[in-house]
Amino acid sequence: MKKLLEVSHLHKKYHNLNTEITALEDINFSVYENDFISIVGPSGCGKSTLLSILSGLTKQSEGEISIKKGYRIAYMLQDHSLLPFRTILENCLLGLELTGQLNDKSKQYVLYLIKTYGLEPFINQYPSNLSGGMKQRCALIRTLATKPDILLLDEATSALDYQSSIKINDDIYNIIKNEGKTAIMVTHDISQAISMSNRVIVLSKRPAIVKNEYSLEWNCNDLPSINREKSNFSKYYNQIWSDLDEQI
Ligand code: ADP
Repeated sequence: MKKLLEVSHLHKKYHNLNTEITALEDINFSVYENDFISIVGPSGCGKSTLLSILSGLTKQSEGEISIKKGYRIAYMLQDHSLLPFRTILENCLLGLELTGQLNDKSKQYVLYLIKTYGLEPFINQYPSNLSGGMKQRCALIRTLATKPDILLLDEATSALDYQSSIKINDDIYNIIKNEGKTAIMVTHDISQAISMSNRVIVLSKRPAIVKNEYSLEWNCNDLPSINREKSNFSKYYNQIWSDLDEQI
């Protein structure tokens, strides 16, 4: 297994006018190629902070993140960050444009993604004409356009109803696996974490440390909705639930 990322002794303190909040105490974990890792934890424990540090948007107070040479991380922004006045193609090309990487070859790759993942009929339409699932797919294609190796996902389907979110989880999982990407997802939804991931990292309440880490024995060819039906699903759910329950 190729190690792509190592998080060592990560600490994060926020300083306000009179107070200091320790969000992350001492976070350690490794990410291997093709991992789909979910990070769960009580509300306010520091999950978004961790993702923000991994993406480079926030600086840690202490500790190191080492990424394998030549490998790159990208943060998948949510579907609501699609620009309403740009077409689906223009939205998918945005990251390439902003980073000066838009050329014939990179555009061809985006067109391949759009075609392969069923957005071709909507290529010249605007986000308002797309369903929630299609917007999410568009946001994912926009992130994949710059060919990152590791994707960071933040509660990708939290705003959706139950049935749509199950379908979209399948959709996102399928695209990530098909394109051979590694993923780190932060979520408060235990079912989503278990059904999509081969590893789940449970954070403690703030200041967060890694309270537990689970390796889930799924067949990576099975979609998350299939994993939800398996007998192991409730076993994992109960274990993680009790980890989180102890902290309330
Ligand atoms: P989670 O994503 O697990 O809900 P967050 O990472 O958003 O948790 O927040 C962890 C803690 O850090 C919370 O107590 C939150 O109030 C605090 N926090 C987050 N961002 C900031 C900030 N920019 N300034 C000060 N405190 C912050």
